Amino acid sequence: MKSIIFIAPPAAGKGTLSRMIEEKYHLPHISTGDLLRDAVASDTPQAKELKQQMESGVLISDEIILNLLTERIKNSDCDNGYILDGFPRTIKQAEDYEKMLKELGKTLGEVIYVGVSKDVAMKRITGRVSCPKCKAVYNEFIEESKPKVPGVCDRCGSILVKRSDDNEETFQVRFDTYMKSTEPLIQHYEELGKLHRISNDVSKELAFKEIETILNGGN
Ligand code: AMP
Repeated sequence: MKSIIFIAPPAAGKGTLSRMIEEKYHLPHISTGDLLRDAVASDTPQAKELKQQMESGVLISDEIILNLLTERIKNSDCDNGYILDGFPRTIKQAEDYEKMLKELGKTLGEVIYVGVSKDVAMKRITGRVSCPKCKAVYNEFIEESKPKVPGVCDRCGSILVKRSDDNEETFQVRFDTYMKSTEPLIQHYEELGKLHRISNDVSKELAFKEIETILNGGN
C-alpha cells in the first residue's frame, strides 16, 4: 500500500479522513500535531515553550518536527506505508522529507489536497473535541460527527477534550500561516505529478469515496 500525504487548511477534516483510511486499510495515521501534543504533555521547560507556540498558532521548528517524524516512521508498523496528517507544512519540510525518504529507501506515495471553505473550517474548529488517548475526533455541533454519549469517546471510552488552539483567534493565525507557508506545497506536488484534489465541504463520506478512487488508481 502507498503512503498518503494530506495537504489542507486547519480543520479541513484531514484527521477524520485519516482515521477512516486507517480503519479500512490498516495504514498507521501519523499526525505531527498529535506527536507534538504528546511531547508537550511532559513537564519540561521545552515542553512549555512548545505548548505556548502551538497555542499561538505558529509553526514549530523544522528540526523538532523532523526528529519526531523520523523516529515515528522508523517503527515497523510504517513498513507498508502510512498516512501523514499535518506534514509537510513548508517547502523546506517537503524537501527534507524527500531526502529522508531516499535515505530510508521509501517512496512518496500520493498527495491529497483537501479543499474546504474558511467558513466551514471555522465551524468545525469551534465544535471540535478529540480523544487524548486514541486521537478520535468529534464535533459537538455537527449531527453525524457527535459522540454517542456527550463528552465520551465512542472508540475507547476516554473523556473527550477541546484543543487549546481551537479558538477563533488562533484559527486566524493558523489559517494565515497555512496560506503563506503550506499552500505553496500544492504547486510543488503538482509539479512532481503527485497531487490529487478533493473537497470536504459536503460530507466526510463523499470525501472518503474520492480518496478510495485515488487509492484504487483513479484521479
Ligand atoms: P495540527 O494538529 O496539525 O492542527 O497542528 C497543531 C499545531 O502543531 C500547529 O498549529 C503547529 O503549531 C504545530 N505543528 C503541527 N505539525 C507541524 C509541522 N509539520 N510543522 C510545524 N508545526 C507543526
